[in-house]
Amino acid sequence: MLELALIYSARKPSHTEHYFQDIYPLLDKVQLKYVSCDASFNLTGYCPSCGVGNVAVDYMFSADGKTPVWRERGVCSCGMNTRMRCTLDWILSSENLSRNSLVYCNEGTTAFYKALLDFVPLTIGSEYIPKKAPLGSIDRHGLRCESIENLSFADDSFDLLVSLDVLEHVFDYQAALRNMYRVLKPGAAALITVPFHFNRADSVKRAEINATGHIEHLLPAVYHGDPINNSGALLVYDYGWDMLDYAKSLGFRDIQFLFIWSEAKKYFGINYLLRLMK
Ligand SMILES: [Zn+2]
Repeated sequence: MLELALIYSARKPSHTEHYFQDIYPLLDKVQLKYVSCDASFNLTGYCPSCGVGNVAVDYMFSADGKTPVWRERGVCSCGMNTRMRCTLDWILSSENLSRNSLVYCNEGTTAFYKALLDFVPLTIGSEYIPKKAPLGSIDRHGLRCESIENLSFADDSFDLLVSLDVLEHVFDYQAALRNMYRVLKPGAAALITVPFHFNRADSVKRAEINATGHIEHLLPAVYHGDPINNSGALLVYDYGWDMLDYAKSLGFRDIQFLFIWSEAKKYFGINYLLRLMK
């Protein structure tokens, strides 16, 4: 494997302030040297599934059209972007899994899920497809349907739970965290990626389900890309630090953000995993 990625562990607001004010600007100077004026370009990077090879960068999602959204780009030929590559790297190098480990992955169609399944064959993946299959069932294509707010698994089932960019779309994040805690074995970890507002104490709910069962927007609607729904997934929460207080109240411990960056592997941009241990 190439050089270790930089891992910065942050457990409280002063730590993340330090990362954004003092550390990330230095990393940004390094990664900006790789930006090309071409509409798209390749860099030699690393994918834990495919090894050393090209990763493709372009300006998709870029607000100014000049700065790559590194986290979502840096895409390997297998389809994994920077966020997925560095998350899988962390899992394989640091989570002490074996081929007998039971992992629940809160996605079931993506390149990330398929790569994780290659390394940890007892991984269970799922998507939220309640119109196609009842919760806890498997559809005719073998795809399992689960809601993170109401998981069908028994208590203490998994050695690791992985939920990438899902939690911001659920209407009851507290139920989601309670379910995550419930299905993990004692001592097992949840790894979550979620847009987090590090400068906010309190989370903000952007939409809710009203008494008639319809979505009511409390703030302007924002949609993110969704692998199984072309119209995208509604952003429901802007998270602040109180989300972690709630997780702590459930019994989660050793809660930290792991910021991952590597010049050799082209883990560029702001990539962080929220890691919580049961
Ligand atoms: Zn790959």
